[in-house]
Amino acid sequence: MRIGIPRALYYYRYFPFWQSFFEDLGCQVVVSDKTTRNTMDVGVSLTVDGLCLPVKVYVGHVSELIDKDIDYLFVPRIISTAKREYICPKFMGLPDIVKNSIKNCPPILAPVVDGRVSSLNIMKAYVKLGMRFAPLPQASFAYLKSVKKQHQYETAAREKNLNNPKNIVFDYLTIGILGHEYLINDDYINMGTMRWLKAANCRIVTMEELTESTINRHVGKLKLKRMFWTSGKRLLGAFHHFRGRVDGIISIAAFSCGTDSLTMDLVERYSCRYHVPHFQLSLDEHTGEAGVITRLEAFLELLIRRKKLEADHAAYG
Ligand code: SF4
Repeated sequence: MRIGIPRALYYYRYFPFWQSFFEDLGCQVVVSDKTTRNTMDVGVSLTVDGLCLPVKVYVGHVSELIDKDIDYLFVPRIISTAKREYICPKFMGLPDIVKNSIKNCPPILAPVVDGRVSSLNIMKAYVKLGMRFAPLPQASFAYLKSVKKQHQYETAAREKNLNNPKNIVFDYLTIGILGHEYLINDDYINMGTMRWLKAANCRIVTMEELTESTINRHVGKLKLKRMFWTSGKRLLGAFHHFRGRVDGIISIAAFSCGTDSLTMDLVERYSCRYHVPHFQLSLDEHTGEAGVITRLEAFLELLIRRKKLEADHAAYG
């Protein structure tokens, strides 16, 4: 069986898990190619205006996958990945968005991933899905092995953590990046921002390098109503971890993202309160890199001046 997985959205977080799970069930995993102009154009043309850019791009990837002769399309219905928290509603409706946007859509595998009450529910959903391809013991074993794979992947990402003194570079800029992993890791969507920063010799740290307990510790200290959006909680926790440890913070947000519109406003307010240089990049269907690079250059210039003048320089220029 050939299972198609779009290279978009939570591919950038859970692919090690998904790949291991399906391969242990004897399936072949087929991933769409990297995002291109065509992927975005197709996604935009197939979807309604009100959707955010990452979901439009996701639909573009699905459309490309169909040409790869797949038997099933894997589009999980993710409601919650942590107790008493929610993922954005677009993830909950993703299988329906795909079904209604794509003609001749192959059969969709859409396990309901809902860990609001207990992570056991997530396990049950995957084992039930696995039993479509293999007997119960094999499906259970595939799930457990995949959880371990995912854990190893996340641990490796965290080894670059700023808590490790050997990772702190004193002679050049360290930039904290806030944003969904599907924006940060997709070079086409973020218009080469990460590539450009690396070429400018910046040391980049992202939310993926932080443990859940680090994020929860920082969020727990805030005098705010409990943040029940997982992505919003991660953004705020990462912001408070980064401030004081990095030279500046860049937030990468998607235009028309509901959760970002709230969280990024909070990040901006905290940046002013704690004098943290902060630059927000809002992404939509525009593809001109030049405007973005000019603004990044100006931001780095500001950070260099602050570093030289020992932060006597204002955070805003
Ligand atoms: S969190 Fe925002 S960017 Fe991500 S899918 Fe939801 S609306 Fe789109």
